[in-house]
Amino acid sequence: MQNFQFGNPTEIYFGQGQIDQLAKNIPAGSKVLILYGGGSVKKTGLLTTVKDILKEYQVGEFGGIEPNPTYETLMQAVELIRQEKFDFLLAVGGGSVIDGTKFVAVAVPYAQGDPWELVRDRLPVKNALPFAVVLTLPATGSEMNSGAVITRKALKAKLSFLSKAVFPRFSILDPVYTYTLPERQISNGVVDSFVHVMEQYMTYPVKGKVQDRFSEGLLLTLLEEGPKALQEPKNYAVRANLMWAATLALNGLIGSGVPQDWSTHMIGHEITVLYGLDHAQTLAIVLPSLLEVMQEEKQEKLIQYGERIWNLPKEMPAAEKVAAAIERTRSFFEAMKVKTRLSDYGLGQAVIEPIVANLVAHGMGRLGETGKVTPEAVREILKKSL
Ligand code: NAP
Ligand code: FE
Repeated sequence: MQNFQFGNPTEIYFGQGQIDQLAKNIPAGSKVLILYGGGSVKKTGLLTTVKDILKEYQVGEFGGIEPNPTYETLMQAVELIRQEKFDFLLAVGGGSVIDGTKFVAVAVPYAQGDPWELVRDRLPVKNALPFAVVLTLPATGSEMNSGAVITRKALKAKLSFLSKAVFPRFSILDPVYTYTLPERQISNGVVDSFVHVMEQYMTYPVKGKVQDRFSEGLLLTLLEEGPKALQEPKNYAVRANLMWAATLALNGLIGSGVPQDWSTHMIGHEITVLYGLDHAQTLAIVLPSLLEVMQEEKQEKLIQYGERIWNLPKEMPAAEKVAAAIERTRSFFEAMKVKTRLSDYGLGQAVIEPIVANLVAHGMGRLGETGKVTPEAVREILKKSL
């Protein structure tokens, strides 16, 4: 196991009815800005519930944060907060609203330049407005982590930043709020969570038994409960297990003390920013081909994964086992109704060079846990994904 430092300050309030915790945990006298997305929280009534609970506070609203939240939209929230002096932010939504809120939280106090610099140059962030989360879509883990992914449309850039300053103060995870998710977002959430685990698990082994077993527990939970969520959208136990699995998949726990890959995500971000696919759709396209191309360096873990997750027989020859494990991964994404080929989205050979060029332009010429996902490897991965 590698050396590590692990800490996570986000308080989680999990379960039905935990929304009552909102008013108890936002400091009295705060001027609160509620941030949300394209309107699902209006349709479901959640926004009204939140405003009712916060009636003792001065409250404002900022809606319209889009999936893959953009700098262009978020800077409007920054302006509003600077003018109206809001001092506590509340993200009500999925990963896009939470990530967007994280950017806004660090951008407001950054007066020395354009807040985009914080993302582009990954500058150390010292100040951030405090914020909390009401989660409506289990997928990203953003409700309990210190990362965010922001898109700047004008530059065709989708970049991530990390800072301890953007751990949410607290997050409310009520599985009932996920009952209204459209099928596509249920599927996206399961695939994103699954790939988060894989990015931290499917690397060279370092005898991290605890991390491996945690990761395998999360993968098995996603495999079992994901399809059930599509069949029984109002099954509380299923939604609760998916919600907690998604949070634990990316809150720092399973990635501590083990190598991490993240190349599927980095390649995926370029596909989204160039061609508009959903985040999880890009991951379902990239991961199976990446495992194929990188199978030599990942062989030991692929075999462990094949045996422990897919029950492949011990006596099966290694090469066959690796191929079967990868094939089953692809089939699982397809069973979750997320397509796994670029051609399924009308994309062909012509997209390969622009994706590679964007990666290189964003300083990502050597990805993966050992830096072996080079532009040549990315070309091969994308060719296999056609
Ligand atoms: P999302 O983009 O936040 O939301 C997708 C869609 O789901 C939106 O149209 C939203 O509608 C709708 N929706 C959300 N909750 C709903 C509900 N309860 N009922 C009905 N509709 C609902 O999806 P996401 O997958 O959570 O976030 C994706 C973003 O997170 C991407 O930008 C990705 O790169 C990023 N990401 C971040 C991390 C991280 O660690 N920070 C990790 C992985 C990915 P409304 O807009 O109308 O609300
Ligand atoms: Fe993700």
